[in-house]
Amino acid sequence: MHVLRTIEALRAWRAERTGTVGFVPTMGYLHEGHEALMHRALEHADELIVSVYVNPTQFGPGEDLASYPRDFDGDFARCEAAGAHAMFFPSDALMYGPGFATSVQVHGMSAHMCGAHRPGHFDGVTLVVAKLFNLVQPDVAVFGQKDYQQLAIIEQMVRDLNFPIEVVGVPTVRESDGLAKSSRNRYLEGVWRERASVLSRALVQVWQAWDCGERDSSSLLEIAHAQLGLCPEVTPDYVELIDPRSLERLVGDISGGAVMALAVQVGPARLIDNLRLDEVLPGALRSPFTS
Ligand code: AMP
Repeated sequence: MHVLRTIEALRAWRAERTGTVGFVPTMGYLHEGHEALMHRALEHADELIVSVYVNPTQFGPGEDLASYPRDFDGDFARCEAAGAHAMFFPSDALMYGPGFATSVQVHGMSAHMCGAHRPGHFDGVTLVVAKLFNLVQPDVAVFGQKDYQQLAIIEQMVRDLNFPIEVVGVPTVRESDGLAKSSRNRYLEGVWRERASVLSRALVQVWQAWDCGERDSSSLLEIAHAQLGLCPEVTPDYVELIDPRSLERLVGDISGGAVMALAVQVGPARLIDNLRLDEVLPGALRSPFTS
C-alpha cells in the first residue's frame, strides 16, 4: 500500500491508475465503520484510496481538534487489511498553505441541526471534501449514513458543482448495544459508555411507535425526549424529525416518511445518530432492543 504525503506523490499515483478509483475520506482513528466504507468502495471501484486528515476548518473554537484521537500505525494496518491501495496523509501546511482564502458552502441544508450547534462546521467539511475530490479525482466516493446531514450536503455539493463522482452512502455500523461506532467513542469511559446506548434506544422506541402507526411528529419527539430524559447526565443538542431528502424539519403528520436525527452530549463526548423511520429496522438495532 502506498502512503502519499505530498500532492506530487498523490497526482503521480492517480496518473498511473488505469482502472476506476474509489475514495473514502476520513479523520482517522479508523474502526469497523470506516472499514465498511472501504469494503463498499472496493465493490464499486478497482482501486481504493483512503485519506486520513483531521481537518481543522471543520472544528469550532473550544472543540476537540487538539484532543481528537490519532493513530497512524493502527490506521495503516486497517487500511491495508481492508485492501486499500493507497493512503493520503496530508499535513495542515499542505492543505491550507499561506494565504488560503477560498470557501465552499452549501446553503440551507448546512444551517440547522449540527450546522446550528457547530457554526461553520459544514463549511469546513465541504471545503476539505471539495479539495480532496479535486486532488484524488475519484470515480466513486463513499460516506457513512451515520453522518446523515453531512452525506446529504455532500450529495448536494456534487450535484451543484458537477463533480464527476458517484457518491455512495453506507449504513451505520454499531456496537453490540446499538451505539454507533465513532472515533469519539474513545472519550466514553465507564458510566458514560453505558449511558451512550440511550441514543440508539431512543431511536428504536420512536421507530417502534412509527411501526405501530404513530404519525404525529410531536408524539414521536416526546417519545425520544422521554427516553433521553431517563439519563439526567445526557444533554440533547437537538432531536429532530426531518425530510429524508431536503432535511427540512417536519411538523404535524409525517406519513410521507422521516428521519429521526439527534445529537446528544454524553459527558465528554458529543454523539450523533439517526434512523430512517419509514424503512425496515436495521439488523444492528434489532437485537439490542427488541425481543
Ligand atoms: P470520520 O473519520 O468520523 O470523519 O468519518 C469518516 C467517514 O466514516 C464518514 O463518511 C462517516 O460518516 C463514516 N463513518 C463514521 N462512523 C461510521 C459508522 N459507525 N458506520 C458507518 N460509517 C461511519
